[in-house]
Amino acid sequence: MWEDLEVALEKVPGDKLKKKPLPDKLGFGVHFTDYMFLMQWSREDGWHDAKICAKEEFRLDPAAMVFHYGQAIFEGLKAYRGKDDQLFLFRPKDNFERMNNSAVRMCMPRIPQEKIVNILKSLIYLEREWVPRAEGASIYIRPTMIAVEPTLGVKPSSRYYFYIIMSPVGAYYAEGCNPTKIYVSDQYVRAVKGGVGNVKTAGNYAASLYMSEIAKKEGCTQVLWLDACEHKYIEEVGTSNIFFKIDGQLLTPPLEGSILGGITRDSVIKLASSWGVDVVERRIAIDEVLKANGEGRLQEVFGTGTAAVISPVGELFFKDISYRINDGRTGELSSRLYTELQSIQKGFQDDPCKWVVRVG
Ligand SMILES: *Cc1c(COP(=O)(O)O)cnc(C)c1O
Repeated sequence: MWEDLEVALEKVPGDKLKKKPLPDKLGFGVHFTDYMFLMQWSREDGWHDAKICAKEEFRLDPAAMVFHYGQAIFEGLKAYRGKDDQLFLFRPKDNFERMNNSAVRMCMPRIPQEKIVNILKSLIYLEREWVPRAEGASIYIRPTMIAVEPTLGVKPSSRYYFYIIMSPVGAYYAEGCNPTKIYVSDQYVRAVKGGVGNVKTAGNYAASLYMSEIAKKEGCTQVLWLDACEHKYIEEVGTSNIFFKIDGQLLTPPLEGSILGGITRDSVIKLASSWGVDVVERRIAIDEVLKANGEGRLQEVFGTGTAAVISPVGELFFKDISYRINDGRTGELSSRLYTELQSIQKGFQDDPCKWVVRVG
C-alpha cells in the first residue's frame, strides 16, 4: 500500500502566500510556512490522500477522539541553512523511527519512514525561502499524528491524520547562551516506568504544565523531574535530557522507560566519547549532584534537545534552596559540544556518523 502512495501538490496562489517575518522577530513556533504535508489513514485503505497543500485549518468533528483521549504523537526536528547556502536536516530517520515507536505504544499506525523523509525534503525545498539566514536561526519541523474518528468509546481510533508543519525559529537564546535556572520538582512527577514517558505523546506535556507554572513563579525556566517511585533519581528537564560533568566524567541517566530517548542526547554521548570523554549512563541521585557541587566536583550541567541543542544550567532550585553551578557560567564541554554539533548540523564539519542529510 505504501509503495504506491502518491503525493499531490496543491499550489497556493501567489497572492495568498504569507509575508515572511523579520529575522529578529522569529520567536519559537509562532510563524508558520505556507505549505504543510498531510495524509490520512483508515483501517480499510491504510495511508492515502497524501498531499502538500496550504497550511490551513482542519475541519474536525467535536467527537474526534484526539480531543477526548489524547491519542496524539509528535516529533521535533530542524533544518539548517549552512555551508554554501545549502539546507541540511539532522538525523531525520531517527525522528521518524522514534515516531513509529511512539505510534506502536499509542496503538496508532506506523508511517513509511523513508518515504516520509523524502517527502519532508521536498517540502523543505519548496519552502526553502522560509529557512532563515540569521545566525542561530533555523526552521523547526513538527510532524504530528492525531486520531480523528468521531466516537466516544475508549479504543484505538480507526482513522488518523498525519501532517508536517514548519516554523522558522530564531536563535534559542536571544542574548547568547546564558545558563538557565532549573526547578527540581520533589512533589510532582512526569512519568513512571511502564507508562509513556519514553513516548512523544501529547498528554505528557499537558501533565507537565502545572509544575512548570510553579517553577516560573520561582524564576525558573524549566523543571527537572525526579523518578516517580523514590523522588530521588534524576530523569530529565522539560523537553531536554540532562548531563552532569562530575570529576571529569560525563554522566546522564539511562533510558529505562520513563525518559524520552533524545536524538541530541545520543549525539552528545557519541561525540563526547569520540573525544575521549568518559561518558557513563547510570542512575544519578539529586543528593549526589548537590554533594558534588558542594565539594566543588560538579563542573558542568547541561540539557540537550533539538530546540536549544545544548542548554547550560547555571542554577538548581531544590527544596527552597538555590545551588549555583560553575559560578553560573557556561562550561567548557558545553560550549565545545554546542559549537561542534552546530557545525556538523550545518555541514561545515566532518560527519563520520552520517548524521546530516542534504536537502535538494
Ligand atoms: C523531545 C524531547 C527530548 C529531546 O529529544 P531530542 O530528540 O534531542 O530533541 C527530551 N525529553 C523530552 C521529554 C522530549 O519531549
